[in-house]
Amino acid sequence: MGEPPFDDLYRELILDHYRRPRNRGPLPAPTVQAEGVNPVCGDEIHLDLEVADGVVRDVGFWGQGCSISQSSASMLTERVKGRRLEEAEEVAGKVRSMLVEGAPPDRTLGDLEALEGVAKLPVRVKCALLAWNVLLEALRQARAAAQEERHG
Ligand code: ZN
Repeated sequence: MGEPPFDDLYRELILDHYRRPRNRGPLPAPTVQAEGVNPVCGDEIHLDLEVADGVVRDVGFWGQGCSISQSSASMLTERVKGRRLEEAEEVAGKVRSMLVEGAPPDRTLGDLEALEGVAKLPVRVKCALLAWNVLLEALRQARAAAQEERHG
């Protein structure tokens, strides 16, 4: 029995992001920067966010590693650009539940559903999650910076 055709579609999507990463490269004036590694696979992700008025105005990533880690980061940048910090955090939470807890993909995830297949390959989950963990760290920094501005 062959795999259902949508799996191929998702595989194509992941490969497409790997071959033509979106928003790749550091930002000229990032508000926050975060990075992370997945030693199991040798993946590395750096993420720059430009944040103003609680909105992710621009985002850039770079790094190295397997196709899943890099395409996950590329999809992430497309997804969070222009979003409010809370929205970005919500998306990260949904991706995490899908990958870690095997929760069914939320309809709002769109293309990110492509990562669902990864949840069935435990060794790859860390690869797919890396960028989202880095994002959560960057969002935490962004919130801390915003609070300092308000109170300082
Ligand atoms: Zn990997």
